[in-house]
Amino acid sequence: MIDALQIDRLTKTFGNQRTPALDVAELRVEPGEMVALIGASGSGKSTLLRCIGGLALADRGSIRVAGRLVQSSGRAGPGVRQTRAGIGMVFQQFNLVSRLSVQTNVLLGALSRLPVWRTTMGWFPATERARADAALARVGIGGLGLQRASTLSGGQQQRAAIARTLVQGAQLILADEPIASLDPESCRRVMETLQELNRADGITVVVTLHQVDIAIRYCRRIVALRAGRVVFDGPPDALTDTLLAEIYGASPVTECTPLPVAVFA
Ligand code: ADP
Repeated sequence: MIDALQIDRLTKTFGNQRTPALDVAELRVEPGEMVALIGASGSGKSTLLRCIGGLALADRGSIRVAGRLVQSSGRAGPGVRQTRAGIGMVFQQFNLVSRLSVQTNVLLGALSRLPVWRTTMGWFPATERARADAALARVGIGGLGLQRASTLSGGQQQRAAIARTLVQGAQLILADEPIASLDPESCRRVMETLQELNRADGITVVVTLHQVDIAIRYCRRIVALRAGRVVFDGPPDALTDTLLAEIYGASPVTECTPLPVAVFA
């Protein structure tokens, strides 16, 4: 089986920094997994997600999504646009166009398979509109398609952003702190939506979270980064208080004292 995500020897150092923001020796995610990426602020979660999504280039190493090269040795892979079409991205700030309708925002997920002239005129085929409406119903906001995006609550906007990845036909959803700006009830709904798409549709989900309890509740695999490195990779019940203290920096981790990396069955 081809991995949904395959990362090898990935390093990235930002200009003025002495240590790499990312130094991931190897990471594999199988199709249909839902993986939480945790770690302290500045541990490299966002940078890793941006590299996987093809929004940032690493210095070295490679990333493949569904076997297709997103990037290698600091260069985008061939046909990366097509590869990116299969990767849905969800951000903390929703990234909707606030003056457009919710339905049009969701239709933007179809851009990669439609001629530019049609979309610049806001002319989407009926099949795509039906798909957008179905996606909105799927994430629980079916009646809101004609409203302006700005009239939705944060949680509803985030679900619209997830619906956009459905219209896109994404087989991998990368969600970067999708619940960081939401109230607890909206958090629950957004996480349940991601979980439902993962379980029912087999969409692979990689979600960065700063709340460990949420990661444990919704994801059967947790990958923790510290200073750009994977320091834990395993099921939630292997995540002890001691490990958590190390992940979040209560005790120093050096190159000579690697943390145990649990084997994920
Ligand atoms: P996290 O998402 O875990 O908070 P980030 O991926 O945002 O971590 O950041 C990892 C490291 O890379 C941090 O030290 C951060 O300061 C640095 N970094 C991230 N983006 C940039 C950037 N555009 N320019 C310079 N340094 C950056």
